[in-house]
Amino acid sequence: MEDTYEDKKAEVYLTQGEAFFQEGKYAGTIEQLSACLKCRISEEAGWIECTAYNLLGDLFLFSGYEAAAMENYLNAKQKAKDRQLFRQEIYAEIKIGLMYSDMGGQEEALRHFDCAIEQARQTLENADYELLLAAYIQKACLCCKMGGFASAKSIFTTVDSIRNIHPSGGLPVKYKLLKAQLARENGDMDKLTDCIHELLHIAMEEKFRMEYCRFYLDVCVFLLECGRKNEMKQLLEALEPIFTEMEFISVERRFLKIRLSYDKRFSSKKTYQETCIRYMDQSDSYRGRLQEFRRKNIQSLDELQQIRRERDEYREKSRRDLSTGLLNKAAIEEEIRSYMDSRSTKAMDAFVILDIDNFKYVNDVYGHLIGDSVILKLSRIMKETYRKNALLGRFGGDEFVIFIPNIKNVVSMEQKLEKFKEKFHREKFGESGDLCCSISVGVSYNREVSTSYEALFECADEALYKAKEYGKDRIAFYEIKEGLLKYL
Ligand code: GH3
Ligand code: MG
Repeated sequence: MEDTYEDKKAEVYLTQGEAFFQEGKYAGTIEQLSACLKCRISEEAGWIECTAYNLLGDLFLFSGYEAAAMENYLNAKQKAKDRQLFRQEIYAEIKIGLMYSDMGGQEEALRHFDCAIEQARQTLENADYELLLAAYIQKACLCCKMGGFASAKSIFTTVDSIRNIHPSGGLPVKYKLLKAQLARENGDMDKLTDCIHELLHIAMEEKFRMEYCRFYLDVCVFLLECGRKNEMKQLLEALEPIFTEMEFISVERRFLKIRLSYDKRFSSKKTYQETCIRYMDQSDSYRGRLQEFRRKNIQSLDELQQIRRERDEYREKSRRDLSTGLLNKAAIEEEIRSYMDSRSTKAMDAFVILDIDNFKYVNDVYGHLIGDSVILKLSRIMKETYRKNALLGRFGGDEFVIFIPNIKNVVSMEQKLEKFKEKFHREKFGESGDLCCSISVGVSYNREVSTSYEALFECADEALYKAKEYGKDRIAFYEIKEGLLKYL
C-alpha cells in the first residue's frame, strides 16, 4: 500500500516537473523532480525514476551544465537497463549521443546512435517506431554534419520506408531539416523551398515542445547558411518570445547568438548594434547566473546523490537475508525468473535446494546460538565454493538455494556440489566440537526444455524430499522431463 502511495506521489511530482519544464521554468522543474526522486518509488514504477533522470539531463543541458546533464542521462540509462525499460534506455542513449555530437565527439556520438538503433530494433514490440526513427534521424543528421551525405541518404531511405508504415513517427523538425539538407546537397531548390516551408509550418503552427528546442535552433542555423533571409526572419520572430522568456540560459544564449549573426548579415546597423548590446548584457549576466546555477545544482546534485546512495543501499539491504548476507527468497526468485525470461532453451541450469538435516535436534540439544553458527558456517562455505556464476539464497529457516545457470560440464558441477556437501559435513560445532551436521540436497535440471520457475522449483523440492526420505545426507537429482535420475 505504502509503495503504491509513494509511486502516485512521485508520478504527480514528475508530471508537475514536466509541466514546469515545458514552460521553461528552471527552479520549478528541479524542485518537482527532486521531490519526485525523494519518494520511495517501487521497482514496478521504475519508469518514473528513469523519466525524471532523463528530464533532469535535458534541464541541465539547457542550462549550460553539461557534466550534470551527462551524469543524469547515464544514470537514466543504467536504471532503465537494469529494469529493462527500453524506451527510457533508448531515449537516454540518443541524448548521450547528441551531447557527444555537440562536443565534437562525432565517433562517440555515432556509436551511441548505433546502439540506440540496435536496441530499438531488437525491442520493437516493447519500444516503438518513434524511437527507432528518432535514432535513425539523429544519426543521419550527424552524417550530414560530418559531410557523409551518401550515408545520410541511405539512412533517410530507411527512415522513409518506416514512415510509410508508421507515419506518425518521431522528431518532425529534425526529419524535415534532414530532408532539407539532402535537397540542398542534391541542388534541388524547389524541394528545398518546400521543405523550408514545411519546417516553418511546424515551428509556427504546431505545439512547441521544449525537449526539441535545440532542433529549432538547428533550423535557424540552416536557414542562415542557405541565406534565407525572409524565412529566417519569420522563424526568429516566432521563437523570440519563447526563447527569451525561458529560464534555460544556455539555449537562450544560443538563440541570441544566432539572432546576432542574422542581424549582422541582414538587418540595419542600428538593429545590429542593439542586438550586440543585448548579447553583451546577457554575456555579463550569463557568467553570474551560470555560477549561481552551478552552485545550486551542485547542492541539489549532492542531495540527489545522497538520496540515490541511501536508496540503493536500502534496496540492496532489503534483498539480503540479514544474518547470512545471501539473497532472500523474494530476491533470488526475482533473479532466477529474470534469468529464465531471457534464457536459451539450449542451456541447462541447475536449481539446487538444500536443507540441514535434523536441525531441530541441533537447536534443542545444543541451543539456538550453536544452531545459528551452523547456519553461518553453511552460508560461508556456500559463498567460498560458489564465488561466481551462481546465485545463492536463503529461502528461510535451514533451507537454502543455489541456482547454477548455463552448465557446460555436468560432471564437474556435480562433483563440486558433492565436495561442498562433504566439506560442510567435516565441520565441527558445539563447545567441545562434538557436533557434526549434514545437509540433504535436491537438484533439478532443465536440459533443453523451456520451463517455468515454478516447475523447476517444485522438481528440486521433490528431489529434496526424496533425499530426506532415503536417509538424508545425500543428493537427489531430478530432470524436468525424466523425473528422478539418481542419488549421490
Ligand atoms: P529435516 O532433517 O527433515 O530437515 O529436519 P529438521 O529438524 O531440520 O526440520 P526442519 O528443517 O523442518 O526445521 C528447521 C528448523 O530450523 C525449525 C526452526 O526452529 C529452525 N530455525 C529456523 N531458522 C533458524 C535460525 O535462524 N536459527 C536457528 N538456530 N534455528 C532456526
Ligand atoms: Mg532441516
